[in-house]
Amino acid sequence: WAKAQGRGRWAVHDPERSARDLARSALAANLPAALDRGEFVLRYQPIVSLLDGRMLAVEALVRWQHPTLGLLGPDRFIGLAEETGLIVRLGEWVLRRACRDAERWRHRFPEARVVVSVNLAARQADDPAIVDTVSDALAASGLPPELLQLELTESAVMGTAGEPLRSLHRLSGLGVRLAVDDFGTGYSNLAYLRRLPIHCLKLAGPFVEGIRGDGPDAAADHRDERIVDALVRLAHALELWVTAEAVETGEQAERLRALRCDTGQGRYFGAPMPADAIAARLAGTGGEPG
Ligand code: C2E
Ligand code: MG
Ligand code: MG
Ligand code: MG
Repeated sequence: WAKAQGRGRWAVHDPERSARDLARSALAANLPAALDRGEFVLRYQPIVSLLDGRMLAVEALVRWQHPTLGLLGPDRFIGLAEETGLIVRLGEWVLRRACRDAERWRHRFPEARVVVSVNLAARQADDPAIVDTVSDALAASGLPPELLQLELTESAVMGTAGEPLRSLHRLSGLGVRLAVDDFGTGYSNLAYLRRLPIHCLKLAGPFVEGIRGDGPDAAADHRDERIVDALVRLAHALELWVTAEAVETGEQAERLRALRCDTGQGRYFGAPMPADAIAARLAGTGGEPG
């Protein structure tokens, strides 16, 4: 039975899988110390008016400046931080830093009124302390509440009841804007959506990706275009702003504008960049697309 046991052991000790799991748990174990050592950094991605090209907002996107692995994207560690609960502390750091950077832009460019948009994990939104955390970050930075937007995924807001729902209303009551992130990828109850105190829908990248105009897959493209058209109308019927994510080409921007989408975000308008580069754009020295 040695052979059978050998095969059984092989299945349990898949070397590639073990290495991956080990790397994952090593990363997870290092997260708290990394936060204490100040290894997390923020990048900001412009959110631009499709009407006149003005930068109305920026989304804060966290990265980990890892001492040996280099700059790690959130897909490498946000899930881990959610599993371990560290997301609450990391998220608070992101919020405070984003408010502080936004207040600096406001100080230097008072006319620009750039909104900073911060992602909230479901776990943060469910934390009863979230309202105090947000109002403390605003107070500590001096940023006016209307210049802060919080992004929650569909799954984080849909079906919210009890305390978390009260939190959303209290956050909205502070004057903070709320956005539903990656709209269209999850499960949305429209009757429920109507009653949430939200201000903006962010259309998920895959719909935008489907807008290419020509190419071999024109029929599918038109289907995505009709979906975007319907979602924009829905948002406007609910008196919500619409931001299209992952806008990569001028042609997409043009089509989205024709579909009455309000704002766009994506590589075409600018990749995520350091806070100083946002300031350079506001100073008019950063170069606009098109
Ligand atoms: P998200 O909130 O949907 O952020 C948009 C993602 O699209 C970002 O990925 C951004 O870099 C990427 N992107 C930008 N331009 C383009 C484009 O032209 N095409 C395509 N296909 N994608 C583009 P990133 O920075 O890797 O962030 C991934 C996700 O990680 C975010 O998705 C968000 O859910 C999460 N995340 C990032 N920062 C935070 C944070 O501070 N807290 C929490 N809880 N989650 C965060
Ligand atoms: Mg987001
Ligand atoms: Mg998104
Ligand atoms: Mg996304």
